[in-house]
Amino acid sequence: MKIETLAIHASNHPDSATGAVTSPINLSTTFLRDEDLGYSKGFMYTRHNNPNRQQLESCMAALEGGEAALAFGSGSAAAFAVFQALQPGDHIIAPDDMYHGLRTQLRYIFVELKMWVTFIDFNEIENHIRPNTRLIWMETPSNPLMKITDIARVVELAKQHDIITAVDNTFATPCIQRPLDMGVDLVMHATTKYINGHSDVLGGAIIAKKNDDFFGRIKMVQLLGGGVPSPFDCYLTLRGIKTLPYRMRGHCENAMALAKFLEQHPKVEKVYYPGLPSHPDHAVAAQQMKNGFGGMLSFQVKGEAKEAIKVANTTKLFMQATSLGGVESLIEHRASQEGPDTKTPQNLLRVSVGLEHIDDLIADIDQALLA
Ligand SMILES: *Cc1c(COP(=O)(O)O)cnc(C)c1O
Repeated sequence: MKIETLAIHASNHPDSATGAVTSPINLSTTFLRDEDLGYSKGFMYTRHNNPNRQQLESCMAALEGGEAALAFGSGSAAAFAVFQALQPGDHIIAPDDMYHGLRTQLRYIFVELKMWVTFIDFNEIENHIRPNTRLIWMETPSNPLMKITDIARVVELAKQHDIITAVDNTFATPCIQRPLDMGVDLVMHATTKYINGHSDVLGGAIIAKKNDDFFGRIKMVQLLGGGVPSPFDCYLTLRGIKTLPYRMRGHCENAMALAKFLEQHPKVEKVYYPGLPSHPDHAVAAQQMKNGFGGMLSFQVKGEAKEAIKVANTTKLFMQATSLGGVESLIEHRASQEGPDTKTPQNLLRVSVGLEHIDDLIADIDQALLA
């Protein structure tokens, strides 16, 4: 089945008890035990599993083409569970441009737990593989510089060295990029973003190509660590997923048009969008991103931090806020969000292009740049 169909039918099962077409929300934290002390309906306690979470997990597995999935209370908790499933002494390779919160987890928590972490430019990955390298973590497109990692090339190298590969697919979504089909072992999502799509649920997911021992360890962290989403959050996320493929088409179309507009604007120094032929990795992006280039872009305003912040303060439709992937457009001065150790250029603005009409978005950003 195509993803538009999966998004609707893998996300919803009519309720056999009542005939309700839309699945109910099961808020109960505990479930009846059988006389023989078993749990024949498959549910015992909501931290272990819950009907709404099970539905979200099977839907995420279907969308990404994996054997199994786990849902978490945030994208950060999902990534944390993968790192936690490793052992002291293991080496992790991660991108030099990556979601700030996950970089901070690795630097301040997992290095203390005696793991080795190297943040690299993936063009030089060969030089960084060590005998103890266990995990290669990719994020493509990356946050906020929209760098592209050649997934197929990394998978080939990882397989030669028996290293687990993972892709943070939050920016692309399975509508655009399917890492598991390319041989990647794990996909991670901040479902907070496009998957839920309405800026009202925090959530995360790990999807595995194979339901293997390492996935079992991640599942153990989910169960024992307890960083699970509530049934209501699972329900809302599933509700959002139904329109994901159509939302992504709109995000991609609007972002492409906005990127082209910004690229020729006299007040703009540089635009970062993998759909532009001027992007250094446009060819790789075109190869691995199948139906568009996503709804995220960054651009540098001519001038310093002051000029960039003024633009973010002057837009009317683009709201000045962090996060991404909702129906509404957001603009953000990223360096000040990331704090003093940021490598992000001071005149860079990150934009989550929403689903408003593109003419209104262009007019809004144009008046802000010219103000
Ligand atoms: C938001 C985000 C995360 C973290 O997700 P939370 O739900 O905020 O914990 C991880 N990776 C990327 C690319 C993100 O955009």
